[in-house]
Amino acid sequence: MTDHTTAPAAFLPPGSVIGILGGGQLGRMTALAAAQLGYDVHVYCGSEDEPAAQVARFVTTASFDDEAALARFAEAVNVVTYEFENIPTAPVRFLEERVAVRPGAAVLETGQDRIKEKAFFNGLDVATAPWKPVHSLADLEAAVEALGRPSVLKTARLGYDGKGQVRIDHGTDLAEAWDSLKTDAAVLEGFIDFDREISVIVARGTDGAIACYDPVENIHVHHILDTTIAPAPVDGPRGRQTLEDAVSVAKKAADALELVGLLAVEMFVDRSGHVLVNEMAPRPHNSGHWTMDACLTSQFEQLVRAICGLPLGSPLRRCDCRMKNLIGEDVHQWQGALSETTAHVHLYGKAEVRAGRKMGHINYLYPLSEDGHHG
Ligand code: AMP
Repeated sequence: MTDHTTAPAAFLPPGSVIGILGGGQLGRMTALAAAQLGYDVHVYCGSEDEPAAQVARFVTTASFDDEAALARFAEAVNVVTYEFENIPTAPVRFLEERVAVRPGAAVLETGQDRIKEKAFFNGLDVATAPWKPVHSLADLEAAVEALGRPSVLKTARLGYDGKGQVRIDHGTDLAEAWDSLKTDAAVLEGFIDFDREISVIVARGTDGAIACYDPVENIHVHHILDTTIAPAPVDGPRGRQTLEDAVSVAKKAADALELVGLLAVEMFVDRSGHVLVNEMAPRPHNSGHWTMDACLTSQFEQLVRAICGLPLGSPLRRCDCRMKNLIGEDVHQWQGALSETTAHVHLYGKAEVRAGRKMGHINYLYPLSEDGHHG
């Protein structure tokens, strides 16, 4: 019997146009996943050469303060998402008045500001490193007094890959440290002697359904992600409980934000096996690239499903994986990897090799281990 009181499910059918703000590799891989499901993609970015623009059906090249271009973009797409979180929020709010933006501008704002982000997690009773907001040298002196040395001073906004942060050691001059950040909003964090760094990627659909990938370990080199190990090894004092905590933190955050889309949550595991949230990003994440070859649904397809109102796919891990970023000159490894049967090469179409630039990644696959929560 048909239930006429139930409104038809609001989903965007294949053939609809997904707008992506930003033209980097995350947008590129989202666009490829969108194409697989029959969607068109319209990328809004700075140049036609950018990785996502190369593979999109439509491209707008304009700046984020060009309201006429933003208004035309809003008219031309059925839903908007973004592929980097340092977009100014004004254009995102502008778009949100005209078309669905998923995840919404409010989520973006929380993720862009370390003060709001930490307050958000602490408000959910989720642990972070101990921290204090810092708006002046006097604040910094008081915060160092309270949290001790070593500690880490980070700009509240626009920091990434270790940029915009300075370690406060025993000899560090606080005035110099404060001046070096050139900001009026920062946080001081207690230094965590962590056992490992992990992350969890969670998807939430328009109906509130949640799907979570296995927690993974992330190894950084010079503050840039180098390798992701999936699943994260379970060998700390609290065993599997650590990873279960990590998954429940990510789910709790996604629910509290009423997220539609993806959320990556980066955490420290301390020596006692407890998780402390470091930061979050409401978008596909480098630590989720392993899902492209090792899960039933990749993080990119999952994002497309979530923002188009489709059922989420299974995040089940079908094999273990080591994801190696190809940074700068590492890119030349692609050719050797092609002859390895268990290596999957992904290149981002960046013509110019620069030190520190993410050029691609390789997913090395291994037999499925017992660890992890399997979806
Ligand atoms: P972030 O930009 O906050 O992701 O920090 C970059 C990297 O610096 C992290 O991945 C950690 O390796 C390290 N780091 C950041 N904050 C802390 C902290 N409070 N204690 C120890 N290491 C940290």
